[in-house]
Amino acid sequence: SGVLYLVGTPIGNLEDLSPRARLILQSVDRIACEDTRHSGQMLSHFGIKARLLSFHQRNQETRIPQLLEIMNNGETLALISDAGLPGISDPGEELVAAAIMAGYHVTCIPGPCALTTALITSGLPTRRFCFEGFLPSKAYPRRVRLKELSKESRTLIFYEAPHRLINLLEDLELIMGNRPLQVARELTKYHEEQIGTTVLEALAHFRTIKPQGECTIILGGAFSNILQYIPWDLNILIQAVNDAK
Ligand code: SAM
Repeated sequence: SGVLYLVGTPIGNLEDLSPRARLILQSVDRIACEDTRHSGQMLSHFGIKARLLSFHQRNQETRIPQLLEIMNNGETLALISDAGLPGISDPGEELVAAAIMAGYHVTCIPGPCALTTALITSGLPTRRFCFEGFLPSKAYPRRVRLKELSKESRTLIFYEAPHRLINLLEDLELIMGNRPLQVARELTKYHEEQIGTTVLEALAHFRTIKPQGECTIILGGAFSNILQYIPWDLNILIQAVNDAK
C-alpha cells in the first residue's frame, strides 16, 4: 500500500536539497506542499515535474482524508513545507498521526532544519535543549509562557518573525534577564549572520539595524553562564582562546 515520505527541503540555500530528496520528489505520485507556487518554483529549479496539492492549516481537515485516499489507492505521497522539515513549526503532525493510525508506512528523507542549524553554531550548550518554536504573538500570553520557561535550564530555541523580534528580545530581557543569546539570521544564505552574545547586545544591534529576514533565537538556559562550559573542559577552552589572541 501507499507510503508517506516526509522530505526535508532547503532553508535558504537550494544546494542543500539532498540527492535522495531529489530522487524521491521526482518519483512520487503526488507532492503535498504548503504553497504550490512556492514549491513549484523550487521543484522546477531541479527540473522536477510533479503533481502538487496544497496542504496547510486551513485546508488540512478536508485534505487529510483525501491524502489517505491517495495512499489507499497505492500511490506514493511526499509532504514538503516551504522550508526545512515538514512538521517543524509547519503543517504535518496531524497528517503523520492519521497516516500511522491508518496503517501506512511513514518515512523521512532528512534535510536542513533551522533550529538544529542555529543551535550548533550558537556556542551555547547543545547537549540538552528545548525547542519552543513560535511564542504567542500577543504580549500577555507571550510573557506568561516566558515566565513558565524562566526556570528551564536547557538551552532554549525560538522561531520569530523579524517584525516581532525586538518585542521578543525586550520580553526576554524583562523576564529571563540578560542571558547569553544568539540570533541566527538568514542561515545558509548569502547574508547569513550571527548576532549576540547577550540579550542586551542583540537588542542594541537590532535597535540600530532593523531586523529583516529569517531569524532563529538561541537563549542560554536558566543560570547559564560560562560555568556551563566546564563539562566540556574549561582549560582547553581558555587555552584555545589565549592561543588565538
Ligand atoms: N520547517 C522549518 C524548519 O525545519 O526549520 C521552520 C518553518 S517556520 C514556519 C519558519 C521559521 O523558521 C522562521 O520564522 C525562522 O524563525 C526559522 N527559519 C527558517 N529558515 C531560517 C533561516 N534560513 N535562518 C534562520 N531562521 C530560519
